[in-house]
Amino acid sequence: MLNIVIIGPPGAGKGTQSQYIKDKYNLTYLSTGDILREEIAAGTDVGKVVDDIIKHGKLVPDEIVVSIIRHKVLSHLSSPGFLFDGFPRTVHQAVMLDDLMKENNLKISAVLSLDVSVDVLTARMLERAKTSGRSDDNEETIVHRLREYNDKTKPVLDYYEKKGNLHTFCGDRKIEEVFKSLCEVIDEVK
Ligand code: AMP
Repeated sequence: MLNIVIIGPPGAGKGTQSQYIKDKYNLTYLSTGDILREEIAAGTDVGKVVDDIIKHGKLVPDEIVVSIIRHKVLSHLSSPGFLFDGFPRTVHQAVMLDDLMKENNLKISAVLSLDVSVDVLTARMLERAKTSGRSDDNEETIVHRLREYNDKTKPVLDYYEKKGNLHTFCGDRKIEEVFKSLCEVIDEVK
């Protein structure tokens, strides 16, 4: 199984690159952000709890996202692999993901980190805000989301760096160029 984690600050292009990667390698795509937005739209109990948290650009509690991911992984074990987008976002989530992988004799093949300067990220997100309809694509919330990334998600990069499966890319380039670099690494590990 080819299991890929894609990490980067909001606006780094994770969603865009993920669409290309999942199609090319036929992976089961798990975006916790998308799943949580679906829960909100469907008005579920989880949706009601996370709605306000997401609007404020804060991270949803680990137990909620870990339970979502666990359920999805266990119900797609015959898939050619998983592409995790926006998960793990804390070291605790990363440890929980490792446990889940081990329990099922799986492993993370590569962690792809997209690095983009804050100016470019902010500009991209404000542009996206014009059409995305997302409750968290506004200037005030973007600041919180970037802070959450720096405080809680950057340590996840150190976690994977120590494990030796972190690959960092400059995400400040054309979509096709970034995709080509990501594929070079994926082709090596697959
Ligand atoms: P995204 O679509 O990945 O930008 O996620 C949108 C929002 O959903 C984030 O700002 C968080 O509030 C929440 N979220 C998504 N994934 C996670 C996660 N792994 N852990 C905690 N909160 C998350």
